[in-house]
Amino acid sequence: MPLVNTKEMFEKAYKGGYAIGAFNCNNMEIVQAITEAAKECNSPVILQVSAGARKYAKPVYLKKMVEAAVEDTGLPIVLHLDHGADFEMCKDCIDGGFTSVMIDASSKPFEENIAITRKVVEYAHAHKPYVTVEAELGTLAGIEDDVKVEHGSESYTKPEDVEEFVRRTGCDSLAIAIGTSHGAYKFKPEQCTRDENGVLCPPPLRFDILEEVSKRLPGFPIVLHGSSSVNQEYVKIINENGGDLKDAVGVPEKQLRQAAKLAVCKINIDSDLRLAMTAGIREHFNAHPEHFDPRQYVGDGRKYVKELVKHKITEVLGSVDKA
Ligand SMILES: [Zn+2]
Repeated sequence: MPLVNTKEMFEKAYKGGYAIGAFNCNNMEIVQAITEAAKECNSPVILQVSAGARKYAKPVYLKKMVEAAVEDTGLPIVLHLDHGADFEMCKDCIDGGFTSVMIDASSKPFEENIAITRKVVEYAHAHKPYVTVEAELGTLAGIEDDVKVEHGSESYTKPEDVEEFVRRTGCDSLAIAIGTSHGAYKFKPEQCTRDENGVLCPPPLRFDILEEVSKRLPGFPIVLHGSSSVNQEYVKIINENGGDLKDAVGVPEKQLRQAAKLAVCKINIDSDLRLAMTAGIREHFNAHPEHFDPRQYVGDGRKYVKELVKHKITEVLGSVDKA
């Protein structure tokens, strides 16, 4: 099976009340961890690449590694550009064999966002085979590679904008802002309460906005960015093995599970993979200070990422046996 676009995947996910995991990748071990986990769960999966990943690993390596994963697993896999900054970057990926792209013009005024998105959609849909396009309305706080928005400067998606935006752009899916945020520090401590163990509890997602958007766009796939949960077990392993991550906090998995049952068909997860990889490597080094073979410690990182992805597929996304 060749790489696929998101069209059929999202149609099934919408009807089935689950979401597809969109995991960021930038090296071989992460690609293997994600796709081996997906294989064991018989789950479809989206591997996404940011501008930062393209700079780090070179597009050609990423493309070939993802193709290798398709050959190795036989799963339906999408190769997706995360946060395409402009038409040129999207065009470059479409020409290079990506099966899906995101054009993120969400920081631009409404009309400009529509014009840029429309241009990408026209190019992507004319491509054979058809490349799907994700667009964004509203802005998330936080930091992800080249995308940086200060806390306090984020803005929720306005439901009254979505029908016109989707109609005029022709986009295939829409990322909305309902209170998720990029990075491992999604909320400032003062936005949160603390539980009895002193762990931060973030403000709840704005399900009212999600419901209003899905009422206005029946059957249309919605995307959530910045949806790592910053599982405290990994933060604890990192901090117990020489790390220093203070007050790292994410979106509770229960809320993401709820969103996946509604119109959300794609949930983006990046920081959680980074934390799992770092936890595995730090723990390995602490236990084996004499080791210097990268296969030993990166291999432990890969094992942790794979366990995490299996957990996400079964407990959060609900995409088990949907391949
Ligand atoms: Zn994002």
